[in-house]
Amino acid sequence: MSPRTVVVLLPLGLDTPYSYLAPEGMALAPGDLVHVPLGTKSVVGCVWPRAGAEKPVDAGKLKAVKARLDYAPLPPELLKLIDWMADYTLAPRGMVLRMALRHGESPGAARERVGVRLAGPVPGRMTAARARLIEFLGDGFVRGKTEAAREAGVSPSVVDGLIDDGTLETVVLPPEPAAYPPDPDHAVPTLSEAQGTAAEALKEAVKAHGFGVYLLDGVTGSGKTEVYFEAVAQTIRAGRQALILLPEIALTQAFLDRFTLRFGVRPAEWHSGVSTRRRAKVLNEVASGDVKVVAGARSALFLPFRDLGLLIVDEEHDPAYKQEDGVAYHARDMAVVRARLAGAPIILASATPSIETEVNARRGRYKRLALPVRFGGAKVPGLSPIDLRKDGPPRGRWIAPRLEAEINDTLEAGGQALLFLNRRGYAPLTLCRSCGHRMRCPSCTAWLVEHRYRRRLTCHHCGYQAPVPEECPSCHAKDSLVPVGPGVERLQEEVQALFPAARSLVLSSDLLGGVERMRAELDAVAKGEVDVVVGTQLVAKGHNFPGLALVGVVDADVGLGHGDPRAAERTFQLVHQVAGRAGRGKSEGRGFIQTHMPEHPVMRALVTGDRDAFYDTEIAAREEAHLPPFGRMAGLIVSASEGHAAEAHARRLVAAAPMVPEVRILGPAEAPLAILRGRHRWRLLVRSPRNFDLSRYLREWRAVAPKVTGNVKVAIDVDPQSF
Ligand code: ADP
Ligand code: ZN
Repeated sequence: MSPRTVVVLLPLGLDTPYSYLAPEGMALAPGDLVHVPLGTKSVVGCVWPRAGAEKPVDAGKLKAVKARLDYAPLPPELLKLIDWMADYTLAPRGMVLRMALRHGESPGAARERVGVRLAGPVPGRMTAARARLIEFLGDGFVRGKTEAAREAGVSPSVVDGLIDDGTLETVVLPPEPAAYPPDPDHAVPTLSEAQGTAAEALKEAVKAHGFGVYLLDGVTGSGKTEVYFEAVAQTIRAGRQALILLPEIALTQAFLDRFTLRFGVRPAEWHSGVSTRRRAKVLNEVASGDVKVVAGARSALFLPFRDLGLLIVDEEHDPAYKQEDGVAYHARDMAVVRARLAGAPIILASATPSIETEVNARRGRYKRLALPVRFGGAKVPGLSPIDLRKDGPPRGRWIAPRLEAEINDTLEAGGQALLFLNRRGYAPLTLCRSCGHRMRCPSCTAWLVEHRYRRRLTCHHCGYQAPVPEECPSCHAKDSLVPVGPGVERLQEEVQALFPAARSLVLSSDLLGGVERMRAELDAVAKGEVDVVVGTQLVAKGHNFPGLALVGVVDADVGLGHGDPRAAERTFQLVHQVAGRAGRGKSEGRGFIQTHMPEHPVMRALVTGDRDAFYDTEIAAREEAHLPPFGRMAGLIVSASEGHAAEAHARRLVAAAPMVPEVRILGPAEAPLAILRGRHRWRLLVRSPRNFDLSRYLREWRAVAPKVTGNVKVAIDVDPQSF
């Protein structure tokens, strides 16, 4: 009898599984996680289904599987999703597998008993490792002792040293609570008529248990969450599992509270703020079917659900669903694929659907369920333009007199105001008054942004940081560097000067304290503990601030005018969503947009509130230009430490491209971010008709493309977000 072999996919940059011997008595099936030898190391891999076309191997030369891990196996559906994604994105299959394994690499974590947290003063003796650990624990949270060391990337002795110094204290970790199932009948709400109609359709879809895409298209504040909760309830009644994807930052206490009100318990959470220990537990119970509902960020897509009966992508238009590093994929699109593989319905919810989704709904491929009015009859705030060319503020200030007066009235009436500016930090540019030198990142084509809280100049692309120099690096004049333009921190200064009695708060993703502090602050706003919020796009996402009466968009033009066809859509979505935060409570909300281009179609659509007119124009423009979703597109970024090497390789690639009449290749041209982390980037855009298999074309191209030399790299992004 010939020895048994299995094929095992490794979470590395490899496309094909490797063959191994299965030891006598070890039962192995596709999806099982195993330890296998690779060279001199031992790695975790996943037993893969045989494609049937493997080359015969000489069993005598094979190494044996070392052990089967005590993990839940990946279900067949997830294996298919990984295959599908690898084919579609052209990422190595192993790298896609890696996304599904990343969270499950430490089964011991769930059993860890001793935790640590920050308790005392920062120690006298600081090392890089100590600083890293302290920064990691800086959010005040308890982490398992070994987990803290591993996640901060320091040795366990660093943890012990800080305990001895009194900087950290140890705590006994309570056992993880058992998963109490959410109760679908805990508190069933009374729905409005429109909500009821939509909820019925979704409940029917859940009962029928077949694939279908539903666009829950409701204005901000219309009660979309309550509607999809009914579909979740139905899924639980049917004994299946539901996955709710949210942009990471929308996973607030407020969302969890609402879930708890409806179902009696919290959902299982899955995002970067969840501890490894907790993840290990969630992972197991998702696989066993004990966890009924997961609310998570995009990585939750790769959880090994036992019986997935419903998927929801809330705020489906949100750009945060697109992952650009590593495997380039769009979580919304992959959620649709996963739903199809699971034979389950999927709900895409938004007040401002992406153009892609809107077109699918218009074509009838997605079923639209509309909620045209706000729950409880509140009105969506009207937006008034403030023309910065005529009615702008004096130089060096950013709040126009009209907006200032409106904020004043709002505060006097006891309401909250929100000022939206999509610029992190203090000032987007720092320049020398004497010689005009501009502070730029040493390794990117980007200006350094001043962050005053952190007292640093920062590159928003590579993370480079440096103290603000005391003299100009070019002409050496002292005290000559000045900030130019506003960021949210600087805007807050203006707010404090104009309204000294108001409690103001900056909400921006890069303030100290991490996700947990941000969540606490969002909750403080919701509770009315803040009068004026100054925020970046962070505030646009799905929050419910009942006391918010006024929204001022400080510079609506920020995102426009970069020549990116998606800029108009993004600006429309962002401003519309931000404005939609206002007027959700008792008082009617109002919004103002400061702009230099009040006649721009985006501004007109925002002011008139004519969403359909905006979509009509945008969709017609895309169709005319054969842009997605009317054509397919891929971006190829060729990068190298030398600009000419990147450009030359990009040209060789074009020369090697298979000639087919359907495909047009644009470029090479310098990529929008021409230098990133010291690498020069050239871009090719590949365009084809909608019903053309672009991924296959790209694979054929790659097969005949010249090999990369030196440090040249080629990154492929199918369905790029900017084009
Ligand atoms: P959307 O997500 O569509 O912007 P939300 O789901 O946040 O809207 O709902 C807006 C507000 O209306 C929330 O405070 C929500 O609790 C409330 N609400 C919506 N539907 C109902 C309902 N059927 N009964 C009671 N309150 C509701
Ligand atoms: Zn940089």
